[in-house]
Amino acid sequence: MFSPLFSVMFCRYHWPMMFSAVPDYHMHTPRCNHATGSMRDYADVAIRHGLREIGISDHSPMPDGFDAEWRMQSDELDNYWQELETTRNYGKERGLKVRRALEIDFRSDQLAYTRSLIAQYPWDYVTGSVHYLGDWGFDNPDARQEWEHWSLQDAWVAYFDAVAASAESGLFDIIAHPDLMKKHGHCQPDDAQVEAAETRMLTAIRDAGCCLEISSAGLRKPVAEIYPRAAMIEHAAAMGIPFAYGSDAHAPQDVGHAMQDCLACLHRCGVRHIACFEQRQRTMMDFTR
Ligand SMILES: [Zn+2]
Ligand SMILES: [Zn+2]
Repeated sequence: MFSPLFSVMFCRYHWPMMFSAVPDYHMHTPRCNHATGSMRDYADVAIRHGLREIGISDHSPMPDGFDAEWRMQSDELDNYWQELETTRNYGKERGLKVRRALEIDFRSDQLAYTRSLIAQYPWDYVTGSVHYLGDWGFDNPDARQEWEHWSLQDAWVAYFDAVAASAESGLFDIIAHPDLMKKHGHCQPDDAQVEAAETRMLTAIRDAGCCLEISSAGLRKPVAEIYPRAAMIEHAAAMGIPFAYGSDAHAPQDVGHAMQDCLACLHRCGVRHIACFEQRQRTMMDFTR
């Protein structure tokens, strides 16, 4: 066992606390078939790193077996909720708030299903994300050949318009990794139509009252960059859109990953507050205190 003093020194070395620890609202469980560790393992890492709050947001079921190998199934939801409750109590006894959430892939043809899924449990927040354009799972490395059928410009415009539609649905509290399209290095082109689409997306997010996620997951992918890129953070901050932080951890050791870098990016754009959720009510916390 490490002594408490060693733990503090260890954490400070890897984790320079320039800003207060903020909630990490994006993490997964093995139910999605591409994550490891129990919820308790994620909570333990959070506690070790001095976090006060996390949210578990695993990939939700989708109807008709769509994308079934990358998400939990409907009959796993009850067990998911039970583990959330157990972990919430475990955290409570140790000074860690554990929020109960889902990450839901937005598809405009599944609105009724998504609405009823959200109504089934009293989630603390619901995260919306876009991993598909039609049937193309563009962030899946096995589907990369589909890029041959798209211009960079068309793909980015279609992606931003899909994310805008997810915000307009009014279903979500947080919009996840809002430039995921760049994951394998297909970066946002400098193009007037793409820029207009980005503005449409951010306007939709602002008007719907959603938060934009700042995610360290991109740093662990080929693009090696935070989602979203600095220019979008600046754009969103200037529009007054609130931010939520997420590591998108698919393994316990990624909890809180690059939190300070993400907060530093926000701080450079004049942002001082980050979103916290309970029972789908948002409050803002000053991370500079
Ligand atoms: Zn995932
Ligand atoms: Zn995720």
